[in-house]
Amino acid sequence: MLDADFFRRWMTITAASVDREAERLTALDSPIGDADHGSNLQRGFRAVRDTLEKEPPTTPGAVLVQAGRLLISTVGGASGPLYGTLLRRTGKALGEAVEVDERQLAEALRAGVDAVRQLGGAAPGDKTMIDALVPAVDALGDSFAAARDAAEEGAVATTPLLARKGRASYLGERSIGHQDPGATSSALLIAGLVAAAAD
Ligand code: ADP
Ligand code: MG
Ligand code: MG
Repeated sequence: MLDADFFRRWMTITAASVDREAERLTALDSPIGDADHGSNLQRGFRAVRDTLEKEPPTTPGAVLVQAGRLLISTVGGASGPLYGTLLRRTGKALGEAVEVDERQLAEALRAGVDAVRQLGGAAPGDKTMIDALVPAVDALGDSFAAARDAAEEGAVATTPLLARKGRASYLGERSIGHQDPGATSSALLIAGLVAAAAD
């Protein structure tokens, strides 16, 4: 079973990997965006980490709702509301339970990803974070490791795609040949599940 501690570890591990990969995420956002994705998420996940430390919520749902709210209020840009919605909606779907199992997490994350799709209007293949998140959620029924691999493959597979949403879409054909920064950071988020389970 997964308790609030597991979800706190998931968020702090993600904060650490966003810190480590911030320059790479910003570099990916340079040719097809405005070169701020790494710094945007770094600001957001640092706030998440600091607040979780100061005011640790006691249920899995509350951890994710708090993290989502902080991302919405600190990240800005396109990715703040999208990541914030992902975590908030996933947290809400987990309800008040003190512990949840992997299947409940997979279902809740599916609800979170659906909310991101609704908010941003992106479908699979549009070269966004959705291209990492949808395969991850599909694989989550098998294992966290399968979800991590699916997200990573989904992120890499955005390279040949034409962007249809977000800033990268302004470039049209010139968006082809670059990996999407948001799909790349989504793969970091999903990889955090494996690390949180191993800790
Ligand atoms: P901004 O584009 O406002 O500078 P970021 O650079 O932080 O925001 O985030 C860019 C990422 O957000 C993209 O790489 C993409 O994955 C994601 N994104 C942008 N628009 C959408 C959308 N409508 N739906 C889903 N994801 C999106
Ligand atoms: Mg940007
Ligand atoms: Mg920006």
